[in-house]
Amino acid sequence: MTTKIRIAVLHFAHETVTFLKNDTTLSDFIYPGSPASGEALLKAYPKSYMGGFVKMAREFDGVELVGIESPLWPKTSIGSGWVTEEAFETFTGRMMEGLKAEGPFDGVYLCVHGAMAVRGTARPEAELARRVRAVVGPKAFIAATFDLHGNEDEQFLKHADMGFAVKYFPHYDEYLQGERAARMLVRAIRGDYKPAHVTIKVPIVSATVRMWTGASPWMDLTQRALVWEARETDVYVNVFFSFPFADVPDIGITIQVLTNNNAKLAAEVARDIAALAWRKREALLTSTKIHSIAEGVTLAKQAIAKGETPVVLADHSDRSGSATFLLREIVAQELSGVLIATIADAKAAAKLKAAGARAGDPFDMEIGGLVDESAGEPLRITGTILNAVEGHGQFWVVVKFGRDNVLILSTYLVQVMEPFGLRLLGLDLDAFKVFAIKSRVHFRKGFDDNGFAKTILLVEPDQPFLGTVHLDALPYRNVDLKKFYPYGEPDFRA
Ligand SMILES: [Zn+2]
Repeated sequence: MTTKIRIAVLHFAHETVTFLKNDTTLSDFIYPGSPASGEALLKAYPKSYMGGFVKMAREFDGVELVGIESPLWPKTSIGSGWVTEEAFETFTGRMMEGLKAEGPFDGVYLCVHGAMAVRGTARPEAELARRVRAVVGPKAFIAATFDLHGNEDEQFLKHADMGFAVKYFPHYDEYLQGERAARMLVRAIRGDYKPAHVTIKVPIVSATVRMWTGASPWMDLTQRALVWEARETDVYVNVFFSFPFADVPDIGITIQVLTNNNAKLAAEVARDIAALAWRKREALLTSTKIHSIAEGVTLAKQAIAKGETPVVLADHSDRSGSATFLLREIVAQELSGVLIATIADAKAAAKLKAAGARAGDPFDMEIGGLVDESAGEPLRITGTILNAVEGHGQFWVVVKFGRDNVLILSTYLVQVMEPFGLRLLGLDLDAFKVFAIKSRVHFRKGFDDNGFAKTILLVEPDQPFLGTVHLDALPYRNVDLKKFYPYGEPDFRA
């Protein structure tokens, strides 16, 4: 007979760009389907951490999962700033009530991101773990999954027992880490795994656009972690690359190693990877070339002339989705055969929808810009509507203009991670030589890692704005950049 195991499941995730003006509010987390509890929570995100966790946990006999009422990702996704105190306190308060009402539990799974930033709470994931621990008691095991962009230090594992972060950017292994968290939680509850961990902070901070794990040197960090997991049984390694657009005290690279009751081994592995990161610090910060927008468009023209197409022109810095700088330059330099995906403009999209816009209609509007200075000025586009459809909670208008260029207007920020979904809008991908998109690294999934694009050009405006690689231009209050490479000369020895 297998002893029955009861595991509570909680979700609270956001990647907060604290430099955005719009707070992430209580109402942003409330919409049809969110908050979710019971089976609805367990079925949320079936291909991500949650799906992997639930699938694996249910492969064990006698495991009962209890979905405690939790908010899903906010409506604003990653396009909103500080999470309000009201939102954090309301949801964590209800989670604790749920844990008390449904308990006792042998284990708790926390499905978090790691880069949530909350007004008045410096380390929200650690605070969540602290509160959960206070309710479930010292004997229960607490395990979490994280995005590698988490801003974490040793605080989380003071209250929780285990954390499992994705290793790849793009994040290919979310489901896998969810499975892992479930298996290790069950093993720990059964007394088969005694978590011993070590955390080391490495004083390196980088913009996310540089962190692609498909190439060195970021790939080397991933690879080294995988090697340790392969050569030692029961070793798990988290390399948090960190998310520098959250103004919180625990940014910077963090190495976390988990072993089965072997603190010495955990320290050895953590030191090894921390030392590797430190050795490679210069390459980590310089290996990805970022062009000015004018330079990027000129290089795209040269790539077309040499037949090195398709080209990806990615404005990595646009955090609102409404920026017009790249579009303006494409028009100014008379680039042709370009698909611009997308310019977000909620007002224009609503106006077109209300007017019953459809294929064949002439198009003449000022679009984009304005939402903040980083979006720039609106740009007048004249052309013909090829398609206008409702989908995924947005209104999409496809406009042909200029010299065989096509622009997609959307309601909200759209990060195009792979080209093939664009066919749903009736587009023939072969017709384009250039894809002008808004993405930092996730686009590599469908444009680069698979060999689709022949030329990749990352661009940002000169200004610099809030999504910039020039972190020293950002108004940090809770971070002293001089304590981090490359903005100071921290004294670090792993
Ligand atoms: Zn991430």
